[in-house]
Amino acid sequence: MSPRQTLSSSAPDVLAPTGVVRIYEVSPRDGLQNEPEILPVEAKLRLVAGLVEAGLTDIEVTSFVRASWIPQLSDAAELVGRLPRVEGVRYWGLVPNERGLERAVEVGLRHVATFMSASETHNRKNVNRTRQESLSALRQVIGAARDEGVVVRSYLSTVFGCPYEGPVAIADSVNLALSLMEAGADEIALGDTTGMGDPALVQRVIAAMVQAGVPLERIALHMHDTKGTALANILAGYQAGVRTFDGSIGGVGGCPYAPGASGNAATEDLVHMLHAMGVHTGVDLDRACQAGQALAQDLGRPLPGRYLRYWLGAHARTAAARTA
Ligand code: MG
Repeated sequence: MSPRQTLSSSAPDVLAPTGVVRIYEVSPRDGLQNEPEILPVEAKLRLVAGLVEAGLTDIEVTSFVRASWIPQLSDAAELVGRLPRVEGVRYWGLVPNERGLERAVEVGLRHVATFMSASETHNRKNVNRTRQESLSALRQVIGAARDEGVVVRSYLSTVFGCPYEGPVAIADSVNLALSLMEAGADEIALGDTTGMGDPALVQRVIAAMVQAGVPLERIALHMHDTKGTALANILAGYQAGVRTFDGSIGGVGGCPYAPGASGNAATEDLVHMLHAMGVHTGVDLDRACQAGQALAQDLGRPLPGRYLRYWLGAHARTAAARTA
């Protein structure tokens, strides 16, 4: 791989200052990958432009998996080629392997995300490998990325529970997180893949990670609202010192490999809660809702995010009052 035009800025990577929360937006990738109707690249560009407009600075835009695996994301190269270049905005691409990494770097991405599961069965069902096989392969991918100066986030799924195995040993998640960091991952995103976590478990997991030497500033939380606990779990993570949280506009998307899983934490819900607490996110909530409204129109259905629904209702009332 050779140096190519870069989409990243010189903004400091990954580390968010204490007291300020960094929102990592996943809607263009995790949000859309389960959508049965393939969204035109123009609609995806509209979504990303709306997210940038709302002040989101970390946006996972697509995945470099085989096109046959996730047809929705088969336009990855075209999409990335047409993204708005904005100072301070980092675009991330999900990469399953070294070939995916090469493709991401070829189109100019300087930020990539890898993935594996904390539980053996989910990992086998998701990527058809044992955890040890995944870890060996990811060491190569992460090492190659680091050689290129590419920043790496490593997702660890099913940390707070596995749909096949039930509870997951915290020690397993900790050891995998440490191995991924040793391999060179800059950030570890702990995923509650099917919304099995609870606030007490979140605090236990974070405490164990920190005690084992995973720095708080390198931990992100990717929570699902499958059973309505995403915000409570995020608050528990915030109280435990985590400052990076994943959100998806309108709560769009889930996990295609976990039966029944749905509902990424909605960015607007998360931003609203944090702002109400006096925590800065750099996100303009109204503009985030506008991005959610536009995405709902493009998908042709209402989105599950609760703040977005409130905001749309409030706007409808205001409009009705104006015309009364
Ligand atoms: Mg998700």
